[in-house]
Amino acid sequence: MTTPGRPLLGCIADDFTGATDLANNLVRAGMRTVQTIGLPEPGAAAIEADALVVALKSRTVPAAEAVAQSLAALRWLQDQGVQQVYFKYCSTFDSTPAGNIGPVTDALLDALHGPGQGFTIACPAFPVNQRTVFKGHLFVGDLLLSDSSMRHHPLTPMHDANLVRVMQAQTRRRVGLVAQDVVAAGPQAIVARFAQLQAEGVGVAVVDAVSNADLMAIGVALKGLPLVTAGSGIAIGLPQNWGLGGDAARDAANGAANVAANAGTDASALPAFEGLAAAVSGSCSAATNAQVAAFQAAGRPAFAVDPLAIAAGHDVAAQALAWAEPLLAAGPVLVHATAEPAAVQAVQAQLGAERAGSLVEGVLAAVARGLVQRGVRRLVVAGGETSGAVVQALAVRQLAIGPQIDPGVPWTWAATGLGVPVHLALKSGNFGSTDFFLKTLA
Ligand code: ADP
Repeated sequence: MTTPGRPLLGCIADDFTGATDLANNLVRAGMRTVQTIGLPEPGAAAIEADALVVALKSRTVPAAEAVAQSLAALRWLQDQGVQQVYFKYCSTFDSTPAGNIGPVTDALLDALHGPGQGFTIACPAFPVNQRTVFKGHLFVGDLLLSDSSMRHHPLTPMHDANLVRVMQAQTRRRVGLVAQDVVAAGPQAIVARFAQLQAEGVGVAVVDAVSNADLMAIGVALKGLPLVTAGSGIAIGLPQNWGLGGDAARDAANGAANVAANAGTDASALPAFEGLAAAVSGSCSAATNAQVAAFQAAGRPAFAVDPLAIAAGHDVAAQALAWAEPLLAAGPVLVHATAEPAAVQAVQAQLGAERAGSLVEGVLAAVARGLVQRGVRRLVVAGGETSGAVVQALAVRQLAIGPQIDPGVPWTWAATGLGVPVHLALKSGNFGSTDFFLKTLA
């Protein structure tokens, strides 16, 4: 069982919203979890949690930089006394032959076991989110990864679904496979296969998984392994190794199709809501457009930020805050730059995509800060990059992870640099039901 105050599992996530996704799964599987934004300052107070998730921004930086960031995170997690380390990447295995999954895995194994030594797994499977691995091949829904929209990704296009081959191109270690029939035979069979592969000189085993039952069996087999590398799905099977169990474990045991269906475990307890409520949105995804429309259709007030007005030098943040201030006491408000693709393209044609993005992020971050200064204590943020900008503007260093709102989006609670705590819901683009703003701010 868990010893109060001592983290058991230490996680290194290669991006911000991916870290929150992992933390959400860990909480749902019964671990009290804290996510840090980068590494805490030296000398910061020890964190009371079962699991620590360090959010890095290392997915697409040069491999050497990703390795350096990850090793620094490993050292900090080791200082906290964690018993197992979890390197978390995307469930679509976002990487190139240059990295960063392979080089970071090599560096972590070298640091834990010595150069060229050690053994770990690679498993991006997350069946409830339509990511399965079979005979070493990654599927996104019914499509091979290489036939999915990931083949067009601007930074990490995935042209090969065979993860043994993809991983072998990135790592110095030999890559092997634990096939689904072995996984289905249970933890003992998986452990025996690990031993066989190690005897053959394999250092990284891609592991098949097509169901939550597979993830739970793999979880048992990973007990005591110093390093795990995976997407967020593998997280649901690990807490049982420390006698912890939550919704995910219960759902898997019941054979439920969707671990995301219910929310709330003891591990997810956060302080009660207080203060005023508001949302800021810089996401222009289809889901967010529908969510903004639903908020307005319900009669709630919304302020649209015009990127061209920002570029023309208007103090749009001050305007938005002056608009919001008298309304806040009557209920939640929304400040957004959310727009349909044609409008976004028109703005980008004038300002350039990068400049438009950073101007909008700057205004929304300033608005978020101003809202908290005006008494908002429950803040919903839509957009991955936007969330990063807001968290920075609020000088948040770590997030306590609470109950799940929708798959991949938990409530979080954070101290800010403004001297007050806030509840934050940080939603990446396509996540969340249509009534997301209404239900989170109700
Ligand atoms: P998502 O999670 O949906 O990708 P992000 O916040 O990560 O959302 O990215 C959206 C980007 O688009 C941000 O950089 C944001 O500032 C920018 N943006 C938001 N609204 C507009 C707009 N109306 N025109 C141009 N860019 C915009």
